[in-house]
Amino acid sequence: METNEANTVPTIEAVPEASVLIVDDSEVQRLLMRKAIESMGMFSSIHEAADGLTGFATMRRESVDIVLCDLRMPRCDGYGLLRLKCNDARTSATPVLMLTASDDVPTRVRVLEAGASDYVSKPARPEELRARLSVHLKLKQLHDELRHKTEELDRLAHTDTLTGIANRRHFDEALEREFDRSSRYRRPLSVVMIDLDHFKQLNDTHGHLGGDHALKAVADLLVREVRKPDLVARYGGEECAVVLPETSARDAVTVAERIREKLASMCVVWEGQELAVTASMGVASCPSVAVARAEELLERADSALYAAKASGRNRVCRAPGSTPRGAMASGSVSAHN
Ligand code: GH3
Ligand code: MG
Ligand code: MG
Repeated sequence: METNEANTVPTIEAVPEASVLIVDDSEVQRLLMRKAIESMGMFSSIHEAADGLTGFATMRRESVDIVLCDLRMPRCDGYGLLRLKCNDARTSATPVLMLTASDDVPTRVRVLEAGASDYVSKPARPEELRARLSVHLKLKQLHDELRHKTEELDRLAHTDTLTGIANRRHFDEALEREFDRSSRYRRPLSVVMIDLDHFKQLNDTHGHLGGDHALKAVADLLVREVRKPDLVARYGGEECAVVLPETSARDAVTVAERIREKLASMCVVWEGQELAVTASMGVASCPSVAVARAEELLERADSALYAAKASGRNRVCRAPGSTPRGAMASGSVSAHN
């Protein structure tokens, strides 16, 4: 089949909600550019600025998808705008098309090296301007999509799918970070390890889905009961862990006790039956003579948890090594059976 070249001019789709910024010191040029852009029907909003500095401020204030910028301007020229936008995380990915003198190759090279995505020779021809704007707008959208997907993947990589709280990886990273901060500034830091009691039995009685339902209810309660800087995570299986920055061992035991009580009195219903949920907890804190690394803090919390299990479950135990330097070490146990 024969194709007619004249009829196969590629059409450029209008991008809904895209916005463009025109930066030019000449009001007349801005008006001409606005008219040309309006006739393209590609943008839902058109912003204007009279120099690089105001242009940059507009980029930061409005959600600008693409910039069409004159190179020569008083006060802050096109290079100035590129410098500002490249050094700001909010604007660094926004493409800038620079309007340059038509036959000046060294300037074009310099403009590209300074961070412009492209240049358009003056006087700009509407069809070329439209094609270049369209290409860079498309690239910007692909860049935005990629960034959103990367952020979503990062979120998923740090989230437990069943409960929606942080997962082990997230917990390990947060603990490492908080431990470094606690060691450097000698600030208190506590960890609570939480293990549900006789959970195998709950699964056997109510089925795995009933167990999952209970786990979700536990996670929700934990999130509700801690402060904003604290991190609740599913450490694995039916074990959760909480990082409590700026919290001494004594305060962490108070928090754990409150959680333990609320868990024990929580009403979880599955298929018409109430699920009885209790948990044992181990608390460890630093700075402490016994803790030199984040893993040691966890090991201490785990040992305390083991002690809580061994001494009857549904209780909170504090690791003996959780006493600050200079004070006397002592383990504490709260029993509630
Ligand atoms: P203990 O009081 O000594 O902790 O007893 P337990 O039964 O809780 O301990 P055990 O380690 O023997 O069993 C843990 C149970 O937790 C077994 C496992 O099937 C269950 N479990 C782990 N992950 C999940 C999960 O994602 N969903 C459900 N429903 N159960 C889980
Ligand atoms: Mg367990
Ligand atoms: Mg258990």
